[in-house]
Amino acid sequence: MFYEDLSVTPRIFRVGTETVFTGRTNYIPRNQKMGHEVRYKLKYITNCGIWEDGKVHTWMDEREYPCQFNGDGTFSFRFTAAAEGETTFKVVMELPAENREVVLGKFGCYALEEDLFPLRPYKGDTHVHTSWSECGRIEEEPARVAAVGRSKGLDFIFITDHAKQYPSREAIAEFGKFKSFYQVFPGEETHFLKMFNQDGYLYQNYHVYQSIHLLSLGAAESVVDYANKHYEEFSADIEQRMETMDPACSEDERRLMAGSDWILEKTREFGGVAVFAHPFWMPYDRVNLPPAVREYIFKQGKFDAVEIFGLGSNDNAPDAFAGNVDCAAWLREKELETGRRIPVTGATDSHNAPLLLGTQYTIAFAADHSLEGVKDAIRSGRTVACRRRGAEHPVFKGDFRLVRYAGFLFREFFPEHDELCLVEGKLMQQCLRGEVANELVNAYSQNRFEMLYRRYWGE
Ligand SMILES: [Zn+2]
Ligand SMILES: [Zn+2]
Repeated sequence: MFYEDLSVTPRIFRVGTETVFTGRTNYIPRNQKMGHEVRYKLKYITNCGIWEDGKVHTWMDEREYPCQFNGDGTFSFRFTAAAEGETTFKVVMELPAENREVVLGKFGCYALEEDLFPLRPYKGDTHVHTSWSECGRIEEEPARVAAVGRSKGLDFIFITDHAKQYPSREAIAEFGKFKSFYQVFPGEETHFLKMFNQDGYLYQNYHVYQSIHLLSLGAAESVVDYANKHYEEFSADIEQRMETMDPACSEDERRLMAGSDWILEKTREFGGVAVFAHPFWMPYDRVNLPPAVREYIFKQGKFDAVEIFGLGSNDNAPDAFAGNVDCAAWLREKELETGRRIPVTGATDSHNAPLLLGTQYTIAFAADHSLEGVKDAIRSGRTVACRRRGAEHPVFKGDFRLVRYAGFLFREFFPEHDELCLVEGKLMQQCLRGEVANELVNAYSQNRFEMLYRRYWGE
């Protein structure tokens, strides 16, 4: 791993601003220690096919860049980027007696325009189930699931059990003992049942299998609890809304349309981010959501983002991913149709945290990693959805500038970040099992991530 051999700060900097970079190799090469003649050089290559003097790159082109090497492994240089993007540098040791060069380390530095530079990337999962979902695994207690999420490199997690917010509140309460940078947020997967239960327990005691799947992220209270507690008002409202809808649609379709409007409005009223979850869910060999309802939800535009990667379900079933592929193509059509970009989220929809968390996620580019910071990033489209299975390079979806930047972060920032998360998440799991004291976890957590971000952004 690069960061174990050579460290440089900052790695992300501002376009058009001369920036001082300092670095060190974490070892002194044996050739130098043995007294051989060595010379150090910094080489670089721009990633736009052309040099600052207008010369086009030749094959495997690179140039030497002025850099101060101090003989003790430390070095420094000044650099200004003319445009947003990455510049690649190489620290090279030259051995004149042997007439050869050895590359000691290669690193990228990414220049950002003023709008993106103050933001920081935070990885999170916006759709996660626990044992409180009827379809959840019995051993997946909310706090345990949250701790697993940390070990998989997440900075935040929304626990979103079916039709209830309290499991996420339970995890948040339990995480109160940790002084971590990691954030557990309240959430709920909201549904609308076609069949009403007249005793007011609208959603409970049903195995959840309905057409409408929406997420309420970070709302002050549960949308479903509200519906249960105000059952008369809720049903009257649905009936009234149905009256005004296109009679060409069936009664069932109109009920689902009215229900989705009600849920999305209530989510926003409670301060939550409303996400259109997996619009192409394909259980049992067919898509679950009637097309007219999907088009209606889109046209109404009462959601803040569409879950473009979801459907992790219980395993890695390929038919689950087929729905994500359709969703991406559908969204592209919608963007062409409407001429606007649609904010996206990536999530696992996990029902098996150890297997799935970390394989699909959202990178939120936010002013801070608070709930408000993350909600604001989702609402304003400053998110990239990511899917990565096995050793593949991830697939990113979202704004082009953010996707390019995410690719850099995946290679140059997240490896070190994820390693720190792995240790912290494992300690949290040990603490929840009663094997280590939470003081030990907190001693590890203290300032660790603040320092990491400061090192990479230089402020
Ligand atoms: Zn769902
Ligand atoms: Zn779900």
